[in-house]
Amino acid sequence: MKIIIIGGGVAGLAIGWRLAEAGQEVTVLERSQPGGGATGASAGMLAVTAELQDASLEEMEFARYSNVLWPSFAEKLEAVSGRKINYAAKGALLLADDAAALSRLSRQAGPGRVLLEPPQVRALVPLVAADGIAGGLWSASEAQIDNRSLGPALAVALQKAGGRILANEAAVRLERERDGRVIGVQTPFGRHAADAVILAAGAWSGLLDKAGEPVSPVKGQMILLAPPAGETVPGPVIWGGGIYAVSRAEGLAIGATMEDAGFDTTVTPQAREMLLRSAEKLMPALGRWTLIEHWAGLRPRAPDGLPMLGPTRSEGLWLAGGQYRNGILFAPAVAETVADQILGRASPIAAFDPRRFGT
Ligand SMILES: Cc1cc2nc3c(=O)[nH]c(=O)nc-3n(C[C@H](O)[C@H](O)[C@H](O)COP(=O)(O)OP(=O)(O)OC[C@H]3O[C@@H](n4cnc5c(N)ncnc54)[C@H](O)[C@@H]3O)c2cc1C
Repeated sequence: MKIIIIGGGVAGLAIGWRLAEAGQEVTVLERSQPGGGATGASAGMLAVTAELQDASLEEMEFARYSNVLWPSFAEKLEAVSGRKINYAAKGALLLADDAAALSRLSRQAGPGRVLLEPPQVRALVPLVAADGIAGGLWSASEAQIDNRSLGPALAVALQKAGGRILANEAAVRLERERDGRVIGVQTPFGRHAADAVILAAGAWSGLLDKAGEPVSPVKGQMILLAPPAGETVPGPVIWGGGIYAVSRAEGLAIGATMEDAGFDTTVTPQAREMLLRSAEKLMPALGRWTLIEHWAGLRPRAPDGLPMLGPTRSEGLWLAGGQYRNGILFAPAVAETVADQILGRASPIAAFDPRRFGT
C-alpha cells in the first residue's frame, strides 16, 4: 500500500516507521524538519501520574498501555537508529502546598506511588523550599526521554525500514475524487498519489482541508536554567506551584504555560517571568541559576481533549491527532493503533474515533 503521512512529528514518524517495517510504501511530508514541531518543544515526560489525574478511563488505559510499551520502543529505536533518546525512569515527585492538595494526591497513592512527609521530600530533592509544602507523592518508576533526539532518531529508523522523508515539503492540499475520497496530496513540488493519507500535522492538522478536522493549538512556553558550578541537577521530574521541572543535560527545563494564542509561537517576557518566579518559589536556589533558553510550542487539542486516532469521514484519509499534553507518552500506542487500523488488524477505539465529532 502507498501511504503518505503529512507531518514528521513523533506521531507521523512513529506510525510511518511501523508501517514501513510492515512492508508498506511510506512517504512522510514534513514542511520543516522531523521533530521540529511540538515534539521538539515538549518536556519529554511520560507523565502517567500528574497528567492523568482527571483522565477518563479510556485515556488512562491508553496512557498506561503506552507507558508499558515505552521501554522496548526506546530500546528498539536506539538499536535501529544508532541514536540515543535516553529513556530514564528517574521518578516523579508531585508536591502539595496544603493539606487539601495532599489529600487529593493521596487518592493516587498505591503500588509504586507513596505519600511523603515534607522532610522526606527534602531528603529526595534538597532544592525544594523548606517551608510552604505539606508533602508530596513519589512515583518512583516514572520516566522521561530526550524529546529533542526523538524526531531525528525516528526519522533514521523509518528510513532504515525503507520509508522516505521529504523534509521542507509542505502538504498544501488534499486531492480528492468527485465522491470526496482522498487519493493523494499536493505540495509545491508536485503531487503524491496514495492509497491512504495520514494527517499527523499536530496543531496544524485542522488547517489543511476545507473539511477541517477540529484540532486546535494550545501554546506552551518553557525555559531552561543552567546550574552554577558545583550544583547538581535533581533527577526526578518535580511538579508543584503550577509548574514542572525536568532534568536535561544542560540543567532544568521549567514548563509550561497554557495559552490560547492561535498559531503564534513567539516567546514573551511575561511567560518567562511567571516561569522563573514560580520555579524560584518552589526551589529558591534556582534564583542563582542562569536562564539559557526560552521556547514555545503548540499542543494539538481536540474539542474534548482526547486523541483522534483512525479513519475520518473522508474515505482514504486517516487522522493521528489531538494528543494534546501527552503526545510523547502516547507515541508507541498511537503508532500501534493507527498503523494496525490501516493494515486492517485493529478497529478504532470508540472514545478516540475522529468521526465522533460532526461533519
Ligand atoms: C511546551 C510543551 C510541553 C510538552 N510536554 C510534553 C511532555 O512532557 N510529555 C508528553 O507526552 N507530551 C508533551 N507535550 C505534547 C506533545 O509535544 C505533543 O502532543 C506531541 O508532540 C504531538 O506530536 P505530533 O507529531 O502530533 O505533532 P508535532 O510534533 O507538532 O508534529 C507535527 C509536524 O507536522 C508538520 N506540519 C504541519 N503542517 C504541515 C503540512 N501542511 N505539511 C507538512 N508538514 C506539516 C510540522 O512541521 C510538525 O513537524 C508538550 C507540548 C508542549 C508544547
